[in-house]
Amino acid sequence: MNSCPDTALRVGLNLILDPPFGDNPGTTPDPMLTENTTSTAPPSAPFLDGLKQRCGNEPEFLQAVDEVMESLLAVSQQNETYTQARILERLVEPDRVVMFRVVWEDDSGAVRINRGYRVQFNNTIGPYKGGLRFHPTVNLSVLKFLAFEQIFKNSLTGLPMGAGKGGSDFDPRGKSDREVMRFCQSFMTELFRHVGHNTDVPAGDIGVGAREIGFLFCHYKRLTGRYTGALTGKGLAYGGSLIRTEATGFGTVYFARDMLSRNKDSLDGKRCLVSGSGNVALYAAQKLMEFGAHVVSLSDSKGTLHFPKGLTAEQFAWVHDLKERRRGRLSEFSEDGSGGEYLENKKPWELPADCAFPCATQNEISLDDAKTMVDNGVKLVAEGANMPSSIAAVHHFRSHELLFAPGKAANAGGVAVSGLEQSQNALRIFWDRTKVDRRLQEIMTNIHEKCVEHGERPNGSVDYVHGANLAGFIKVADAMVAFGVN
Ligand code: NDP
Repeated sequence: MNSCPDTALRVGLNLILDPPFGDNPGTTPDPMLTENTTSTAPPSAPFLDGLKQRCGNEPEFLQAVDEVMESLLAVSQQNETYTQARILERLVEPDRVVMFRVVWEDDSGAVRINRGYRVQFNNTIGPYKGGLRFHPTVNLSVLKFLAFEQIFKNSLTGLPMGAGKGGSDFDPRGKSDREVMRFCQSFMTELFRHVGHNTDVPAGDIGVGAREIGFLFCHYKRLTGRYTGALTGKGLAYGGSLIRTEATGFGTVYFARDMLSRNKDSLDGKRCLVSGSGNVALYAAQKLMEFGAHVVSLSDSKGTLHFPKGLTAEQFAWVHDLKERRRGRLSEFSEDGSGGEYLENKKPWELPADCAFPCATQNEISLDDAKTMVDNGVKLVAEGANMPSSIAAVHHFRSHELLFAPGKAANAGGVAVSGLEQSQNALRIFWDRTKVDRRLQEIMTNIHEKCVEHGERPNGSVDYVHGANLAGFIKVADAMVAFGVN
């Protein structure tokens, strides 16, 4: 038996001192957790030590668990029902992970092989739901972190959605449409047996946009002979929902608006950093411009475009076309003479601003970046991406009482409108733009209110990380208790 490293946590821990997994819960610190991504004092409990030993080569997953456990350990330990049912121990283990070979032929006729995954993490409150990511960095750790985060995010939306995530280490960048199509068909040839409108409903994520969803959905339809809403993010011509494309970016900005409005402030005139130039970033930028904010940056994995006076509608249209249709790089922007300064190999975080919207990828904001941002006057950070801030960066923002919205709350608009797409498919109806946008705004406002309810500090400010973790957790935990031991 291992001793609890933090004596304060011994109180109420009697029931979780026995190792719930195998014989050895372990105490060895995980060597894969670097200073860059973790706090100096990660949360501690014997079952977490065991998890770190079992998942020692899954740093992103452990980072996501650490972040959530900072909020949940104390609360759960005070609730005997949760403790007896070992809710936290069960919550960190996925229901199942499917891993498979994807073989396809490139344009030269060469045989290519990738690895495909679907992590079905938790279906307590509804069918598994979460995107597919196609990117060379995809591995089990990244997908487990994303699927784990999805548990809380999907619960926060108030819609009946469980949590999953999947994808492949396939890189669609630089591939022809035909190559992407052949890959998607091969990927779905295995995935189709694990998904369905009542079991698991994937959507897009990094590298999976309208083109990929079209290929995937068509192949699912051919393999099953059924026309059902087994994927979301579909094109409008074949069962998609209006606003789904824009929903994650729009939702993030709606959440930021609600945070500012609680402080009798608005986005009007604010200088906003946006990272990324994909689906989430572009529509966050568009909504920010609509609300009168100045978008001073966009970025991609090679560099940052700086717009000192704020992105204009013409520049936005140019970037939109570059990314959505021509699939080009931001470095082409200045070459094209359309204005904006290109900062090669730079992230946006050194630029002076009032607000920041990280919308690219995980761990794109390090502690040093966070310090620079706070020193430069950033007062609000709303995460459009999943876990874009390292744990140390999050601590820095929280300790300075910034308005900091974690991704699981701020970017929940995407999955929320996916949920609305599922409803429209099931009812065989199509809602107009106004209706879907109104529902999205209501959902984001409800999430904001839940975060305030559970995260308000004694001084009246809000710890949105704590609020989101707690509000998302309680619903799932109560349902798990109701289901008994399973
Ligand atoms: P896209 O593929 O449309 O765009 C991703 C953007 O991020 C691109 O500009 C890409 O640049 C950039 N990027 C990717 N990896 C890196 C990196 N390592 N360093 C710097 N930039 C990088 O993806 P989405 O916009 O859909 O997703 C962005 C984030 O939002 C992800 O964290 C995703 O999980 C999250 N999210 C997405 C949702 C959705 O509905 N799409 C829903 C909720 C969250 P490049 O082109 O050079 O690779």
